[in-house]
Amino acid sequence: MAAVYRAPMARIGIIGSGQVGMAAAAALFHRQHVSEIVLVDLDAARAEGEAMDLMHGQALVGPCIVRSGGYDDLAGAAVVVVTAGVGQKPGESRLALLERNVAVFDQIVVELDRTAPDAIVVIATNPVDVLTAVFHRRSQRPATHVVGTGTMLDSARLRALLGRHYDVDPQSVHAYVLGEHGDSEFVAWSLATIGGTPIVDTEILGVGWDATAMAAIEHQVARAAYEIIQRKGYTNWAIGAVIDSLVTTIVRNERAIVPVSVPVAHLGGDLHDLPVVCLSLPARIGSDGVEGIVVPPLVPGEVESLRSSAAALAESLAALDMG
Ligand code: NAD
Repeated sequence: MAAVYRAPMARIGIIGSGQVGMAAAAALFHRQHVSEIVLVDLDAARAEGEAMDLMHGQALVGPCIVRSGGYDDLAGAAVVVVTAGVGQKPGESRLALLERNVAVFDQIVVELDRTAPDAIVVIATNPVDVLTAVFHRRSQRPATHVVGTGTMLDSARLRALLGRHYDVDPQSVHAYVLGEHGDSEFVAWSLATIGGTPIVDTEILGVGWDATAMAAIEHQVARAAYEIIQRKGYTNWAIGAVIDSLVTTIVRNERAIVPVSVPVAHLGGDLHDLPVVCLSLPARIGSDGVEGIVVPPLVPGEVESLRSSAAALAESLAALDMG
């Protein structure tokens, strides 16, 4: 299939105008890499109010149009971001919550396949790896056109903390959280580099390898969402920046390598026999969506961590009778 060129001046759909959807919309609006943002929400008045509010900044920010609409307004969208989800009811089990979010996704898949079959779909709703797999299984679109934000957020948090520890710009830190976006995620320390130099057991810019400090950083990354939610009730700004970055990478065909949730069947080497789930590995993202997966040279303990993540995700899919 020929690659669809997704022009920088592109229409973007965002399903779900809650905290995450609007943080993404605000980031996209302020960066002006897209020409139109369409907000779709069950609560149509909320989406309309959010669009009106952002548009009042247009004279200061630039010509990008933000409007609310229904699924038919997503026709021709280059990228559609899914942040819609239902919250946990008091006493509700994780599985019952998941089943309700799967029901929401069933409806979204049908509508998007009807109105925006050529769009790249970016999924952020949690549990993001399970819902990315659900979308893959239910949608008619090519597998490469569906991607979950996965551990891109966790990796950004890791790079920010390592940047502070080493006193360098986090953009100069190359480091990945891989696997599930959730409890079984892990830092692939063997892949972490600054200035092309692996940080494990090395001194960089006068800062030596400190296993205790690194364990604390890994713990902070894993606990970040809990800590923020305890204080403000939700997380939204950094995931908004992640979504803006992913959408921009797609519409500008940047072919960035980012850790995102992708199907892991048929990988080579040590990872050839993973169960069929979606989890995060570094992938090349461009105008045709997921244009390739980098299978990194993980050390044995990291391979085991990735297997544990895959097993946990396979268990969730099995609980949904999708194993
Ligand atoms: P929110 O409750 O503020 O917003 C959810 C929105 O979805 C609401 O406006 C609701 O009306 C809408 N919605 C519900 N069902 C819908 C449907 N069928 N069609 C259209 N809209 C529908 O929640 P939030 O804080 O924005 O979080 C959204 C999701 O993002 C949650 O699942 C959250 O866990 C997840 N999240 C993911 C990450 C990540 O790294 N992937 C980070 C933060 C939050």
